[in-house]
Amino acid sequence: MEKTLILLKPSAIQRGHIGHIISRFENKGLRIAGLKMMQLTDEIIDEHYAHLLDKPFFPRIKASMMATPVIAGCIEGLDAVAVVRTLTGVTNGRNAAPGTIRGDFSMSVQENVIHASDSIESAKTEINRFFKAEELFEYKLASFPFIYSTDEAKQD
Ligand code: UDP
Ligand code: MG
Repeated sequence: MEKTLILLKPSAIQRGHIGHIISRFENKGLRIAGLKMMQLTDEIIDEHYAHLLDKPFFPRIKASMMATPVIAGCIEGLDAVAVVRTLTGVTNGRNAAPGTIRGDFSMSVQENVIHASDSIESAKTEINRFFKAEELFEYKLASFPFIYSTDEAKQD
């Protein structure tokens, strides 16, 4: 089953939305394969936001991501990468659709409360960046037969 990575940013932590945001994934029927709090370092942010390193606002993003610890999560489900990106909403919280996480919890481009992997490829890289193998768990969801039909997905 597909896995993706989320980070609850300092904007979510400071504003008291950890539980509200994690609930969105539970409510949807996604399985939480791993969850932890961690303080991001210069090195991990340079890697994670390598596509923004050259931008003039990179130091501002870095400071924002280091303002408090973040919550890293590994979320699993059928088409999890695309489903979680859809639940997340577009980058600018002001433009994000109501009902999405950014649409409901953010007024900002930078302070947009959550990161979510943008492709299957980057999900794999990002899960390895933030989680050790022993921090991911393969427990079964008792509700699985009520989340998917038998032709959609099987839980080994
Ligand atoms: N960001 C920003 N200003 C910009 C573009 C991005 O502050 O003009 C921040 C914002 O917090 C965003 C993150 O950098 O979530 C990563 O940018 P990306 O374009 O990858 O957006 P995302 O994939 O998070 O929607
Ligand atoms: Mg991105």
